[in-house]
Amino acid sequence: MSALIAIEQLSVAYGRVEAVTDVSLTVAPGEIVTVIGANGAGKSTLLNAAMGLLPARGRVTFDGRDLIGVEAEDRVGLGLCLVAEKRELFGAMTVEDNLRLGGFRVTREAAAESLIEVFQRFPRLEERRGQLAGTLSGGERQMLAMGRALMARPRLLMLDEPSLGLAPKIVADIFRIITDLRAAGVAILLVEQNARAALNAADRAYVMELGRISLDGPAAELARDPRIVESYLGLGRTETG
Ligand code: ATP
Repeated sequence: MSALIAIEQLSVAYGRVEAVTDVSLTVAPGEIVTVIGANGAGKSTLLNAAMGLLPARGRVTFDGRDLIGVEAEDRVGLGLCLVAEKRELFGAMTVEDNLRLGGFRVTREAAAESLIEVFQRFPRLEERRGQLAGTLSGGERQMLAMGRALMARPRLLMLDEPSLGLAPKIVADIFRIITDLRAAGVAILLVEQNARAALNAADRAYVMELGRISLDGPAAELARDPRIVESYLGLGRTETG
């Protein structure tokens, strides 16, 4: 099978309440796949379980390797990275030190190279390399969280609501960077409530409702699907509207 990650019949419960039920999805190398859905649909839970941060039933394979029992840290070593919704930066440390922490698993040479690449991709971070992370703007924090994940040289980057709370211009910047990353060979699994931006950037999409996948297909097709237009894109608008 050619999938980079394959999630099969994954179910996750918080106590007795199931938040994710029988979810299956794949991401191929070099693909942007998005999971869209309303608040509480189970999107973050799905990513956290795929990362190994929550116990789950079902199967996750990465590059053909079964991830059951593999700790989250070791999943990073295999090339799987998650940028969580809370962005989880070290506010009292500088931008550069936050980035260096992201590269602590790779060799010193690889980390030095990655730092240059991250600064090329995010010039704003280079300008602010000595600034404390806690004083960055929302958009800069998202860039730093993505930059830190890239320091580990992921093959699949999972992004949880990268546009949350950001102004439209910054959202456009973040999505441009996401498509640039695909061009650089990094596959992306993107969870978003901003369905319009996500469907524009993605190759394929899944719709999640009440913990289950209700619909999936090419992103351009879903963007025209009347059910998606009505529920997620706003009545009477098209994907270009
Ligand atoms: P959002 O877009 O609002 O972040 P989501 O689609 O990412 O939503 P999740 O955060 O995965 O959804 O939540 C799915 C369900 O699981 C919700 O009903 C939520 O209340 C519940 N849930 C999430 N985290 C916990 C937790 N730690 N303990 C108990 N229930 C939880």
